[in-house]
Amino acid sequence: MYCKSCGAKLNDNQAVCLNCGVKVGEGNKYCANCGSQVDPNADVCLNCGVAIKKNKDDGEYLGGQNKVTIALVCFFLGGLGIHNFMMGETKKGIFRIAATFCCGLGFIFALIDFIRILMDNYEVNKDKLI
Ligand SMILES: [Zn+2]
Ligand SMILES: [Zn+2]
Repeated sequence: MYCKSCGAKLNDNQAVCLNCGVKVGEGNKYCANCGSQVDPNADVCLNCGVAIKKNKDDGEYLGGQNKVTIALVCFFLGGLGIHNFMMGETKKGIFRIAATFCCGLGFIFALIDFIRILMDNYEVNKDKLI
């Protein structure tokens, strides 16, 4: 495992790169697998052939939850805001429950979320209601 920000070698249990101070897994200048320099826009490391994860797919996206899990929860329980709670969006979750019990609208919001999640377009925002 190498630092994606500076290319320094990392131990498996390290959370932060001791060389540059960046959180492990962040950055896009070096390959995490072999440590060689990569193009920030490249999908695959030209040196070792391993797929380079874009920042969007890393840990924090969807609150660190698996996309398939979130999509399924959103589809079946979305009207109750369960997927919002799973992603740390408490305000949204509460709003969904309220919207569902008041007028059944929560399921419509959930459907929109569902489509966005499938298209990798979902924006996690803990401060927003909708
Ligand atoms: Zn580093
Ligand atoms: Zn590589």
